[in-house]
Amino acid sequence: MPSKGSVVNKKELEAVKKTLETRRGEIIRKLSEAQNQSKIIETDIAQDLADKAESSYTKEFLLSLSNAERGELLQIDAALKRIARGEYGLCLSCQKEIGKKRLHHIPWTSFCIECQEKSEAETA
Ligand SMILES: [Zn+2]
Repeated sequence: MPSKGSVVNKKELEAVKKTLETRRGEIIRKLSEAQNQSKIIETDIAQDLADKAESSYTKEFLLSLSNAERGELLQIDAALKRIARGEYGLCLSCQKEIGKKRLHHIPWTSFCIECQEKSEAETA
């Protein structure tokens, strides 16, 4: 019997985790490339970030990312944390299960389609 929050089974969770970590690595690598003059960031911070899922980012690091990348990176981190807590796949706003199709397209999403559309309508 599926329990609460088990929209995604364990095997799928592992795959999602891998996707998230890969995407995360891409963003971090992109930043490292953009700042390849600074070896400190490339070696220390990037390596550190790659190693720790729970890492908090430096202000400089976050500022150097575009808004979209920053948002994505933080969402990816949040999703990884939810995976660790066994809460992955639940909408942060209404606590309902996020559709599988949606999770497949945007694995780091925190909200179900309804809540997402609602918040977009509010900010628009
Ligand atoms: Zn929702």
